[in-house]
Amino acid sequence: MPRSSLILLFIAWLLPAWCPAFTLDHTPVPGGIAVVRLPADTDPASVRYEQRRVLVTRRENQPYAIVGLALGVQPGRHYLEAKTLANKPQRLAFEVNDKAYETQRITIKDTRKVNPEKRDMERIRREQEQIGAALSHWSDDTTVTLDFLKPVDGPLSSPFGLRRYFNDQPRNPHSGLDIAAGEGAPIRAPAPGTVIDTGEFFFNGNTVFIDHGQGLITMYCHMSRIDVKPGQRVAAGQVIGAVGMTGRVTGPHLHWGVSLNNARVDPLLFLAEEPVAEAPATPAPTP
Ligand SMILES: [Zn+2]
Repeated sequence: MPRSSLILLFIAWLLPAWCPAFTLDHTPVPGGIAVVRLPADTDPASVRYEQRRVLVTRRENQPYAIVGLALGVQPGRHYLEAKTLANKPQRLAFEVNDKAYETQRITIKDTRKVNPEKRDMERIRREQEQIGAALSHWSDDTTVTLDFLKPVDGPLSSPFGLRRYFNDQPRNPHSGLDIAAGEGAPIRAPAPGTVIDTGEFFFNGNTVFIDHGQGLITMYCHMSRIDVKPGQRVAAGQVIGAVGMTGRVTGPHLHWGVSLNNARVDPLLFLAEEPVAEAPATPAPTP
C-alpha cells in the first residue's frame, strides 16, 4: 500500500475523535435528557412535551426527539404528543428514572444575596421574567449542534443538580455547572448560535444567553466582561466575554447553564468527553 494511502487511513481512523457526535444513548432522569425515537412519518414541528415544543434531530434519516427533563420531573412514564405528516395524532411514551443529587452547604458573606432586602425584590422579580423569557426562547433552526466545546478551561467545581443550602437555608437546586477559572479567563461559545440577551443581574451578575436553535439555550453568569451584543451571531469557540465574580459568588468561576424546551439540564451531557467532577477548592455558588 502506498504511503499516502496509509496516511489517509490513519486520518480516517482519527476522524471520529475529531467529529464527536452527540450520543443518543441517554438515561432519562430529572435534570437529564430523553432521546425518543420518532416514527419516520412524524411532523417534526408537531412534537410537544408538557405543551412545549421539542427539539427534533435526524440520525441516518431517522428522526429523534431530544427532550429536556427539569429537575422537578417525577420518575415514571411520560409522554410526547405529536402528529404524523398526515395530521394523525401520536402519543409516544418514555420512562424517566430516579436520580439522587448530593446536598451542598455554602456560606455567603453578603447576607443580602441570601435574604434580599425589600427593595431588591422588585428587581429580582423583573430579572426572573427576563431570564425566563430568554431560557424559553424558540427559533426554527433546522440544524442544531448538540456537541458542545467546554466554554472555559478549568476544573469543574460544582456539578449540576446539587440540593443547596445557603447559610443553612434551603434554596433552589444548582441549575448549572460551575467551572473554576481565574478572573479574566476567556469564555467561548460552545457551539454556533445567536446572542439573544445580556444583562447584569442580582444573583447571576453579568450574564449572556446564546440561542443554539430549537429551544436549546445556553447561559453564562458572573462574567467580569461581556464582549457580545443581543442579535449577534457567534461561531463555536468565539470569545463572548470573561470569567468574573459578579452576582452571588464566593470566588471567580463560570456558572454555565443549559436549557432545553425550557428545562434546565446538566451541561455535561453536551460535552463529548465527560470529565470527572473534581473536588471544589472553594465552593462557587450561584442560584
Ligand atoms: Zn453555579
